[in-house]
Amino acid sequence: MLIDGKSRDALSGETIERRSPGHRQSVIANWPAGSTADADLAIAAARKAFDNGPWPRMSGGERSNIMHAVAAGILANLEELALAECLETGKPIGQARGEIDYCADMWRYAAGQARGLEGDTHNAIGDNRLGLVLREPAGVVGIITPWNFPFIIVSERVPWALGAGCTVVVKPSEFTSGTTVRLAEIALEAGVPPGVFNVITGTGPAVGQILAEDPRVDVLAFTGSVRVGTQLAGIAAANIKRVGLELGGKGPQIVFADADIEAAADGIAYGVYHNAGQCCISGSRLIVHNSIRPALLDRLVSLSQRLPFGDPLGATTRYGAMVSDQHIDKVASYVDKGVAEGAELLLGGGKVGADAGNFFAPTVFDKVRPDMTIAQEEIFGPVLATIGFDTPEEAVALANGTLFGLSASVWSRDLETAIQTTRRIRAGRCWINSVIDGTPEMPIGGYKKSGVGRELGRYGFDEYSQFKGLHMTLGRPQPWFQS
Ligand code: NAD
Repeated sequence: MLIDGKSRDALSGETIERRSPGHRQSVIANWPAGSTADADLAIAAARKAFDNGPWPRMSGGERSNIMHAVAAGILANLEELALAECLETGKPIGQARGEIDYCADMWRYAAGQARGLEGDTHNAIGDNRLGLVLREPAGVVGIITPWNFPFIIVSERVPWALGAGCTVVVKPSEFTSGTTVRLAEIALEAGVPPGVFNVITGTGPAVGQILAEDPRVDVLAFTGSVRVGTQLAGIAAANIKRVGLELGGKGPQIVFADADIEAAADGIAYGVYHNAGQCCISGSRLIVHNSIRPALLDRLVSLSQRLPFGDPLGATTRYGAMVSDQHIDKVASYVDKGVAEGAELLLGGGKVGADAGNFFAPTVFDKVRPDMTIAQEEIFGPVLATIGFDTPEEAVALANGTLFGLSASVWSRDLETAIQTTRRIRAGRCWINSVIDGTPEMPIGGYKKSGVGRELGRYGFDEYSQFKGLHMTLGRPQPWFQS
């Protein structure tokens, strides 16, 4: 763990072992199994750094320079970070390298914006009045992250919180703590003062829950499952704590009859198999016009059969291991439900290459009804549920017909159809003729049960800012007592 600028074991001395899901479960790391007592030290350090330390009082320009140095530090350590990310998650090394590089860019974007964060003025509220809206850092931010994109998700939160002038306590997933701990060390080396960026490791209930409970934490930013998010939002609400929630998804990919079928099939494969389907913005529901359904599915099945899966360290691997045995069992149980409820299994459905690691075959279902479990629940695996449609209205109703609203894709050569469709979709991130695209300039976040709040872009800074109204009277005010 990294608390107040110092590397620490858990006070209990206990550790959690991490094994590589892609390498016959070889032991690759041991992380401190933190408890509330450890979290208490980290919160105290972040509070002290916020209340009395230099970070919130620095100019935006000074913070920006240090954050640029963090970005440079990430790039200087790219190979080491990518290796840790690959081994802990099971994702392909080439993908991990790309993700670390992207994260350096997020730090650079946030660093650039950090020196331009402004408030507002009200100069038309009366001749003797002037109003200023002061943007201030929100305080201590507790950040809890999941295991699927550990470095991306911590880099979607921390630079925005630090850029706004906050201090943070981050609790990464117990499966994938490596790159988050390393990031905090890199930040320290780059000049982020001790106590500003703290990391506590261990299981959620043991070390993370206090971030929702403790009044010294001003904001809780949680990324993970709806189940845990709901629980933490309840605790935070009881403490009147601001919460940002980035939760699950069940992304639709709507394919109209005029779509470029080759491009759509490739995009659909990427959308559902990227990161072995363990992606909150996966395009896990294919909603396709019935006239092209057979042709598109033929093409998709043929691509799926050729997916280069294997050793996450392999140079050409595009499709790696899943995070744990337990998770693979959960994905398999969804496949069983799909079959039991009457969907047609076109491809896959079980483990592949079982002796080498946790690999699950690319899986395609056709003839899925919208009320089936595999059409409604987030599977978080490489499982595609196909539903046919005949009219655009039907397509939109199907796309909006789950409790989630995180992302959606529309495939069509007609821009008007595509834009009008995305306008009617209730999701925080929509793509036209692409999928799983992102850039630090653009906001991300959920509608409905997919979450609350927006990260990235200039919107992300508002999550970690307080806005103070400052009313000024120019000249003598109108007397209250009329003598
Ligand atoms: P999870 O909810 O099980 O765990 C997420 C984090 O919460 C982990 O660090 C975990 O240790 C911690 N946690 C668990 N119980 C806790 C508790 N009682 N108190 C405090 N912390 C607790 O999720 P996961 O399995 O790690 O990740 C998968 C989920 O994350 C999926 O639902 C996925 O859609 C979602 N996700 C969402 C986004 C997004 O941006 N919307 C991004 C990635 C993942």
